[in-house]
Amino acid sequence: MNVTRKGSAKKRTVGIRVKLIAALLAFTVLVLFVIWLLQIKLLAYFYEREKFAELEEAYLEIRTHMGDADFEKQLVEVAEKHSICVRVFTIVNKQAKEVADADVGVECMIHHLSMSLLWSLHRNAALNEGSYDKRMEINSASSEPDEEGVYLPGLHRPADTVNAICVRIFQYEGQEYFILLDSELSPVSATIRTLQVQFIWTAVLLLCGAILFAVLLSKIIAEPLTAITGKARRLAVGNYTADFEGNGYREIRELADTLNFAAREIAATDHLQKELIANISHDLRTPLTMIKGYGEIMRDIPGENNAENVQVIIDETTRLSELVHDLLDLSKLQAGTKKIEKELFDLTELTRETMLRYDALIRHNGYRILFESDGEANVCADRSMILQVIYNLINNAVNYTGESLRVRVYIKLFKDKVRLSVDDDGEGIPADKLEQIWDRYYRVDKVHNRAVIGSGLGLSIVKGILESHGAQYGVESKEGVGSKFWFELPLAKS
Ligand code: ADP
Repeated sequence: MNVTRKGSAKKRTVGIRVKLIAALLAFTVLVLFVIWLLQIKLLAYFYEREKFAELEEAYLEIRTHMGDADFEKQLVEVAEKHSICVRVFTIVNKQAKEVADADVGVECMIHHLSMSLLWSLHRNAALNEGSYDKRMEINSASSEPDEEGVYLPGLHRPADTVNAICVRIFQYEGQEYFILLDSELSPVSATIRTLQVQFIWTAVLLLCGAILFAVLLSKIIAEPLTAITGKARRLAVGNYTADFEGNGYREIRELADTLNFAAREIAATDHLQKELIANISHDLRTPLTMIKGYGEIMRDIPGENNAENVQVIIDETTRLSELVHDLLDLSKLQAGTKKIEKELFDLTELTRETMLRYDALIRHNGYRILFESDGEANVCADRSMILQVIYNLINNAVNYTGESLRVRVYIKLFKDKVRLSVDDDGEGIPADKLEQIWDRYYRVDKVHNRAVIGSGLGLSIVKGILESHGAQYGVESKEGVGSKFWFELPLAKS
């Protein structure tokens, strides 16, 4: 046979410290990447864009001065302002004629261009709606034209010199103008190298800072949690006095409050459970002692083997089996495994039948159990469960009614419901205990009148049954006057 066992493989979870360090490191790396991308990788790109934008700005300024009497002077001013060189041509009969220029002393290219190169730039601009931007690189060692057929023969400049050339063609007063603007692009490689060193330092410092910060933060967050875990472990081994503290953070304080509440509840349940075991063992031991005692008497003493003694043994056995039944019922109700089997029956009739069980008690112990009803009350419910409810309520009333020995059972009809109530003249229940009496294992006092059979679980079974029927129920009680336990069921429609 092949038996497969599912191991309880514990999922490995990562601690707050590791997660925080990882998260902060990831964030730092992201920030560093963005800095590297923008400040180092794209530095040259942004710089060149800025330069071309400046040339465009200068061009627009120059256009505003077109037609001015002192146009040449204005041109020089604009060129000085932007540290650029400018040449302005008119095109007449396919001939370029220079009308003005400004050479402000920057490393200029446009003043060294051959006519063929000038026309080549003009052509490119003309093909591009009158606007052409060119990043022009000089390689003095080479006389080969660049990729656009442009080359600068005889211009001697350092090999890695690069200029931004802006070419524009426009019309002014019916005349075609052709303008060249030139700005030197300083090499950014040295700046990039400086930035790279700076970046390495920034990266190292930021990463160390992130780790330090994460460790500190995780310590601050994890410490109260670790303290709570330690106390929770003590709680798990039965030390319910643990007092959880959650200073510092709202969430941790809420967790501590919840755990404190849970600890109090567990302690109370534990206490009640111990009490229940004591009660049940007492309730089990008493009939067992009786059965054993009577059995021995009947075995050892001649003439005691009579029907009366056998009846005692039978009664005690009944008491025992009812106790065991009640325990089973309660556990089934609590586990939700007890099924409700609804049927139509007359609640008045059922109550009357239940009263018959108390005949002996009435006859031998002087109890007076009064029953009044408004008449037939047909309900649709689990008959045997409702019987148990009535039985438990009457049992309790008999148990606690005190010296008056009087119990009253009423069935009152309303428009669409019926209410059954059981009154007694007993000690009553203190107001602050009215809620708790429905809890399993709960007893107001430890004295138990054993005039009738009772398991000590009665009200929790009553509560379980009535709640599973969705019925209303309750208790009214006045200390020293008595108690009234009641429940209501909807009347079955004919
Ligand atoms: P028990 O077997 O102890 O009666 P129950 O669950 O039936 O168990 O009742 C819980 C507690 O409620 C009782 O211990 C008792 O203190 C209180 N109680 C129940 N019914 C009455 C009543 N009719 N009069 C006074 N106290 C009652």
